[in-house]
Amino acid sequence: MGGRFETRAIHAGSEPDPLTGAVVPPIYAVSTFQQEAPGVHKGFDYSRADNPTRQRLERALAELEGAKYAAAFASGVAATAAILTLLEPGDHVLAGDDLYGGTYRLFEQIYRKYGLAFDYADLSDPANVRLRENTRLIWLETPTNPLLKIIDIQAIAERKGDALLAVDNTFASPYLQNPLALGADLVLHSSTKYLGGHSDLIGGAVMTNDPELYERLKFVQKSVGAVPSPFDCFLVHRGIKTLAVRMKAHCENALKIAQFLAAHPKVERVYYPGLEGHPGHEVARRQMRDFGGMVSFELGGDVRAFFKTLKVFTLAESLGGVESLANHPATMTHASIPKEERERRGIRDSLVRLSVGIEHPDDLIEDLERALAAA
Ligand SMILES: *Cc1c(COP(=O)(O)O)cnc(C)c1O
Repeated sequence: MGGRFETRAIHAGSEPDPLTGAVVPPIYAVSTFQQEAPGVHKGFDYSRADNPTRQRLERALAELEGAKYAAAFASGVAATAAILTLLEPGDHVLAGDDLYGGTYRLFEQIYRKYGLAFDYADLSDPANVRLRENTRLIWLETPTNPLLKIIDIQAIAERKGDALLAVDNTFASPYLQNPLALGADLVLHSSTKYLGGHSDLIGGAVMTNDPELYERLKFVQKSVGAVPSPFDCFLVHRGIKTLAVRMKAHCENALKIAQFLAAHPKVERVYYPGLEGHPGHEVARRQMRDFGGMVSFELGGDVRAFFKTLKVFTLAESLGGVESLANHPATMTHASIPKEERERRGIRDSLVRLSVGIEHPDDLIEDLERALAAA
């Protein structure tokens, strides 16, 4: 397709329907396809293996990450599981220590029993990459969840040895950061978040430039079967068209809110890579186009009263939608991490995570002001 990001986001995989000229191609709500003779068909035989609506989405997803290939899954977690399925019993995974709670649960409570070993390290210092002989995968998120640490993807890629480097790029979105260009082998998204952008679907995707990895992922996609429905593929694809404008608004609002919080007496600490005092600010400047829509902070006050007073922010898990959400990691998104381990990682009961939406920033700040006063 070519063109700049905004143009690719709108046109990739979105060519008009060749049959009717419909500018928005139809949703192929279908499970199976007629064959002219046994094994002779138009490229589709069964929708778990491939579906025209999913194929269009996958072309768009690949374009956004500057990747050759993309495979769409039924959720971000299903996409993560597909990557783990590439490993063998006895293999070791080195992961960042500030991770999506569901990723940690998948590693520890599902895949560990199939003979994979997992270790966690603070990868915001690349010197913490210590590989074992059997390390086959390095797994990281940046910005991290929920502490918004920044990991230097290129520095980790330089230390990956024979291991594959997978980057969960959900928090940044492809508009802000493209890990494959920085040396990653695989990029993962929960398209539930910024790609979909409207909190109305669950989806995931993996992108890569490596044809062999792609073939293996396609095989897992079809064989394990965690595929997204054509309707959900359509919704993600529709969301992608406005990704650039939404991300600009998310970033602009988030910076304003981070600055407001940093100056507020009831806020003990703000985590936002766009603030100059953030330890990852310089790396973020280099590897991201802007600093994202997620802001976390330590509240010096009554957390329950804070959440109860919010009106514009909705108390809910998830992120990346047009509406602002507030989350309490210790009891919500990160509750599946044992308390001791959670606190060791810096996720205290006073931590609040905001997914800053694209409402008017003054309404968001007034809402926070009221809630902080009540805290
Ligand atoms: C939500 C999320 C996931 C999991 O995605 P689902 O679509 O909920 O399965 C993985 N990583 C990150 C960073 C997420 O925010």
